[in-house]
Amino acid sequence: MTHVLTGGAPLAQQRRLVTEVPGPRSLALLERRIAAVASGVGGTLPVFVERAGGGVVVDVDGNSFIDLGSGIAVVSVGNSAPLVVEAVQEQVAAFTHTCFMVTPYEGYVAVCEELARVTPGDHAKKSALFNSGAEAVENAVKVARHATGRQAVVVFDHAYHGRTNLTMALTAKNMPYKDGFGPFAPEIYRVPMSYPYRDEPGMTGAQAAARALGLVESQVGARNVAAVLIEPIQGEGGFVVPAPGFLTAVAEWCRASGALFVADEIQSGFCRTGDWFACDAEGVVPDLVTTAKGIAGGLPLSAVTGRAELMDAVHVGGLGGTFGGNPLACAAALASIQTMRALDLAGAARSIGATMLPRLHALQQRTGVIGDVRGRGAMIAVELVRPGTKDPDPQLTGRIAQECHAQGVIVLTAGTYGNVLRFLPPLVIGQELLAEALDVVDAAVAEHAPAA
Ligand SMILES: *Cc1c(COP(=O)(O)O)cnc(C)c1O
Repeated sequence: MTHVLTGGAPLAQQRRLVTEVPGPRSLALLERRIAAVASGVGGTLPVFVERAGGGVVVDVDGNSFIDLGSGIAVVSVGNSAPLVVEAVQEQVAAFTHTCFMVTPYEGYVAVCEELARVTPGDHAKKSALFNSGAEAVENAVKVARHATGRQAVVVFDHAYHGRTNLTMALTAKNMPYKDGFGPFAPEIYRVPMSYPYRDEPGMTGAQAAARALGLVESQVGARNVAAVLIEPIQGEGGFVVPAPGFLTAVAEWCRASGALFVADEIQSGFCRTGDWFACDAEGVVPDLVTTAKGIAGGLPLSAVTGRAELMDAVHVGGLGGTFGGNPLACAAALASIQTMRALDLAGAARSIGATMLPRLHALQQRTGVIGDVRGRGAMIAVELVRPGTKDPDPQLTGRIAQECHAQGVIVLTAGTYGNVLRFLPPLVIGQELLAEALDVVDAAVAEHAPAA
């Protein structure tokens, strides 16, 4: 059995269930949770975590789960990755907070320098740092409106951009994200996404872009558009990968119209898809990029990075926040980026995809319930449907996910119709462990779905 170094003691890389799931200690904590934590905060697994690292999460009863979720695409470098632990420990002992806007520190600047290096395009760039993905998206909209003097923001079907008031408006799905939380922010316009599995067969990326942008021109007016905001591969929406040429055509339209092309790479960024960013695969260069999730090995940090002249369009004091670019989070980000380079985690993501895609395609052949297998690198999903149709099957999706959890594999669901199983392993997961997790997924599908 292999072990990984996690900053603490080495952690055995294995799937091992030693109690019922959840075990007695998790059950006791669950009772406390129910009494003290607001029930609106959702939960995927009923187990409480004691340690995690590499490709495993170990609960308080000693059960060791294979992690195909990474805390929702966050711990790409692994939990408690050694360089992250070391950097954060050093920083926490030196100082924990001064507020960058009061007395600055090098870490914040160094993170912005790294963001300028790793994000798409070799133009002059600047960044501002925040705490959450939603906060980064909100600030990208602020910058876009200020820089263009326009108000309209165009977003897509199936989009997810967060849970704050503005980002709820930008997010497509009502339940659970928006229901009853209105009124929402104005000047947000939604158009169809390129969704190859559900679009008319053969629709090209250029055609899907023309469908969306035609609506923008007729209903919004190109000259009113501050920004077109898009996830280059959609996250919560179900890992929808637009048809080739779609992003390029949208970016080209933005350039011609004076609107900013804003890539929300919060889920797809930082090596997840086998490149630094998902936009890289098609050579698309956004005007602004939002990042968060995988940026800092699990510490809360987010950023807006963009063309220097756009980022500098905002008056002094117009951007910021008390905690934004916290020194611990910046230290963690620098260590995470260093880890991504040292371990070639973009290459690791491509290897993960190369292992997963053929296995999932084979599973698709064996059962009638997998309508689509898609994704890139270590951002892979299957869409579950009723056999012989494209009708979504969210109940089956839920049963398969629960079976995986019961067998010691953490998987997540997604999709507008709740019928997508998504896989986001830490990029440091071992190939043997990954293969074992796929065996569990295979068996769970076999148990809950009829053979083709
Ligand atoms: C998760 C996510 C967000 C929101 O990030 P939070 O840190 O949860 O606020 C925004 N956009 C995308 C694409 C995401 O995946």
